[in-house]
Amino acid sequence: MNLFAQDLLAEIRDKANRDYLTNLFNRRYFFQTAKAMCAEDVKACRSLAVAMIDIDHFKRVNDTHGHEAGDEVIKSVADRLERTCGPLGLVARFGGEEFCVLLRHLPATGAPAFFEDFRDQVANSTIRIAGRAIRVTVSIGVALGVDDTLEELLREADTMLYQAKNAGRDQVRVSG
Ligand code: GH3
Ligand code: MG
Ligand code: MG
Repeated sequence: MNLFAQDLLAEIRDKANRDYLTNLFNRRYFFQTAKAMCAEDVKACRSLAVAMIDIDHFKRVNDTHGHEAGDEVIKSVADRLERTCGPLGLVARFGGEEFCVLLRHLPATGAPAFFEDFRDQVANSTIRIAGRAIRVTVSIGVALGVDDTLEELLREADTMLYQAKNAGRDQVRVSG
């Protein structure tokens, strides 16, 4: 295969692993990759954190501003998430307005404070789309682990997200 074909193939492979709207990794790639990363970290007794992040009352954003503006809001939150968490681990779009993060390098402040800061950034920023100023909040469930499987961490993070929603949204809940 010549160099041009190799580049093209690499590009196609990368595209297949990413979500078309946000360019974050997709759910399939996340599971594939995160599983191996977790197993490696468990073996080395390294602690890690999994966070599930969901935009609050997103249906209202679509209803009020339209689906296209909704798409831009998802992109904006995704960009911020990638900028904030990307260097520390793996960031993926899990579904509509839901994201998942595997933090392999825990920030010095600790994962709870790190995600609290992200929540605060989103809550205090304005997303400008077609002359409109849109504000959203996110709810975050975090699971901390040293010897848990990816499935266990995801389940815990999901339970914590559910609690954050039930407790009124725009908050972070942590387990572990
Ligand atoms: P909650 O605070 O409980 O999370 O409420 P919510 O409204 O965010 O949650 P719900 O699951 O009721 O609604 C999610 C909405 O997200 C419904 C769906 O139409 C919308 N959605 C899913 N994917 C996309 C997308 O790619 N673009 C846009 N614009 N909307 C999407
Ligand atoms: Mg939501
Ligand atoms: Mg959701």
